[in-house]
Amino acid sequence: MPFFINVILPLPLDNHFTYSISEAEANFLKPGMRVAVPFGRSKVYSGIVSEVHQNDPKIYEAKPIEQILDKSPVVTAAQMEFWSWIASYYMCTEGEVLRAAIPGAFLLESETVVQLLKGVEVQDEELTDDEFVLYEALQQQSLLKINEIIQLLDKKTVLPVINSLVEKKVVAVNQEIYEQYKPKLERHVRLHEKYKDETAMHQLLDDLSRAPKQREVIFALFGMTAQGKDLIKISELTKESKASAAVIKALIDKEVLEEVKVREQRFQFEEGELAGKVALNEHQQQALQEIQTAFETQDICLLHGITSSGKTELYVELIEKAVSEGQQVLYLLPEIALTAQLITRLQNYFGEKVLIYHSKYSVNERVEVYQNVLNNHDNARIVIGVRSSIFLPFHDLGLIIVDEEHESTFKQYDPAPRYNARDAAVVLAKMNGAKVLLGSATPALESYFNAEHSKYGLVNLDRRYGNVLQPEIEIVDIKEKHRKKRMTGHFSDRLLEEIRETLSNNEQVILFQNRRGFSPILECNTCGHSPQCPNCDVSLTYHSHNNQLRCHYCGYHIALQTKCMACGSIELSTKGFGTEKVETELKALFPGHQIGRMDLDTTRGKHGYEKIISAFEEGEIDILVGTQMLTKGLDFRNVRLVGIMNADTLLNFPDFRAHERSFQLMLQVAGRAGRTKKRGLVLIQTYNPHHQIVQQVSTNNYLDMYKEQLEERRNYKYPPFYRLIRITLKGRDYSRVNEGAEWLATSLKNSFYENVLGPEFPPIARIRNEYHKNILIKIPQKQSLAKTKELVSRVLQSFKAIGAYRGVKTVINVDPY
Ligand code: ADP
Ligand code: ZN
Ligand code: ZN
Repeated sequence: MPFFINVILPLPLDNHFTYSISEAEANFLKPGMRVAVPFGRSKVYSGIVSEVHQNDPKIYEAKPIEQILDKSPVVTAAQMEFWSWIASYYMCTEGEVLRAAIPGAFLLESETVVQLLKGVEVQDEELTDDEFVLYEALQQQSLLKINEIIQLLDKKTVLPVINSLVEKKVVAVNQEIYEQYKPKLERHVRLHEKYKDETAMHQLLDDLSRAPKQREVIFALFGMTAQGKDLIKISELTKESKASAAVIKALIDKEVLEEVKVREQRFQFEEGELAGKVALNEHQQQALQEIQTAFETQDICLLHGITSSGKTELYVELIEKAVSEGQQVLYLLPEIALTAQLITRLQNYFGEKVLIYHSKYSVNERVEVYQNVLNNHDNARIVIGVRSSIFLPFHDLGLIIVDEEHESTFKQYDPAPRYNARDAAVVLAKMNGAKVLLGSATPALESYFNAEHSKYGLVNLDRRYGNVLQPEIEIVDIKEKHRKKRMTGHFSDRLLEEIRETLSNNEQVILFQNRRGFSPILECNTCGHSPQCPNCDVSLTYHSHNNQLRCHYCGYHIALQTKCMACGSIELSTKGFGTEKVETELKALFPGHQIGRMDLDTTRGKHGYEKIISAFEEGEIDILVGTQMLTKGLDFRNVRLVGIMNADTLLNFPDFRAHERSFQLMLQVAGRAGRTKKRGLVLIQTYNPHHQIVQQVSTNNYLDMYKEQLEERRNYKYPPFYRLIRITLKGRDYSRVNEGAEWLATSLKNSFYENVLGPEFPPIARIRNEYHKNILIKIPQKQSLAKTKELVSRVLQSFKAIGAYRGVKTVINVDPY
């Protein structure tokens, strides 16, 4: 009897592929091991064995495999079960899931690019002959593809050679240009050596008598060092002495203070111990109790805790309990780069037990994390990760925490699998018998709905820790302000007044301007023309720092035009405003202060994000202007004022979630204000002061928002009452896309009638020269989801078989928003 294996290939294929193997191989191979197999005419891929069996595929002749790549499985049975769920729920192939699920370095294939790692030096005797040939070749030519290596070594089985070189850390495969996630450097100071001596010290204080502020700093430093510390954080010193960063800089320049950059400790050991846990206050105690009670009867619990209520401390308690029972914990975050603060906090508690799975990790770092989880290494008790960490090979998963569960970045849009990590985590937990805690100050409507209908437990925590008051929220009517001529640029007199007040108290300001709203666009005053992107249906956006007009979708850019391209007029003006404009205005309004900006443009560079955050923490920036990046769970201590420049750009976004999202965004930004004793202030500038969402934000009324939005969802047939599947057609040929979309929509309407919407062009109908058209299918609760998907797949199959629509791609997105 012949032997076969089924293999999942990292390709969008509907079925597993069958290959033939020898009896010896059949005895050795287990599901979850990698094999290198031929595919197509000359390609080699690595895939995962899903089954070892004896059933001849019959319809095609099974080819033999090329190589076995593992001695033991790298994918667990539980993972494969989960992948198969993802593929069927999100309507993609298991191959696509495989690609998202395991580190790229595991998937060597013909197109794989091999490179030498920087700075490696090897001894001849460490390498086999083949390895050495490849090593030498890579010194001549920096990149080699697998096919080229096959020619070079003159044999087909080159993957083991490459694998071995990867293991020896000589080469890297598919190395993208990722930045290493480095611990940040904290700026500290100490008194300069020469003042250790007492007389020198007295001399110094005399000298400084005419610089009282500097003297104040020195006294503060004495106070702080009296407790035995030598190095003092600049951020703490500015707070203690109430001096500005400039004063401290002057002292450093004078060599009174010496600056030392200290690598922030991964773990802050205190007398050989990890930082002790804090004691929960009574409200936290109560909430913890309630969560634990909920978990006795339910698998999922929603923690609705306002910003700064101390949710993290509750997570810590729950994590500790799970770990002490020998379980693994997954802590999901929307985007880790944005929460270095939180990682530090958790590492302080759990030290070596914490593993981080970061989107900016290099391929090799990801392999390491993956392998540590697979081998159930001690440091893999707690995994903190972004959405893709749900795919790791967990063993005894006991608890999943989804922090900021309302965040839209848990959803992957492109490429497939287009999954929502929060929803998938719920299923993952179920498969593993684990509990899920969803945490948010502004829960997603669906989550709250589930809690209200007892599908989830619900626990409220509605007091800020330390009885810090919620910030006061004030609405500023800018229509009125314009009429009364009380606006300076985009600032109302009210906002300016409070900024001044805040700065004069040495406190900080955060200003929020949404980027999704309008960005500055150049417009001709004579004919109204504004320059368009030639590849996409959007206006180019004006960037003042390099005088460019750029497309935010494809990156096309040209130099700023001095004349209208349509009529030649020189009367051009900019319309709309983004963060950059706010920053420019601020610089003119507050010349003596440091202004920082945080958006995609300023955080792109190396550690750009962390640099801005730590500059702000250390008081080197007085006013920080930013986009939604500012909303993500940051814990700044010295921010008194938060200004929302224009609430209307959020509210007017064309999407059924726009109101819910605006509410979440505004409350989250507001939560950055006044996190310590003093009460914070939030000013919301808007043209629509009576808009219900603005009102609900100002009274911090989640429940009102929830009820009202839920009613709208019910009326207009949206989640949680209806499920959605969106099909997007894409193609370069306008009429084919149009006709194809009509055909598809008509076929779908035969089964789903009025629950098919469209086809419709999205707000931006052309991107990178491809036309897009959307069809939306609404699925009532009573309708079977599985049957619906089956029908949709069948219609799509027929669509793909029609010659006239070849060249039109279809993208399916389940739960698209
Ligand atoms: P949330 O995540 O709910 O916005 P955090 O967990 O960030 O709130 O807590 C807000 C602040 O209060 C943090 O600086 C945290 O260290 C502090 N805090 C919360 N609970 C306690 C506690 N029990 N003891 C001491 N500090 C606490
Ligand atoms: Zn013109
Ligand atoms: Zn473009």
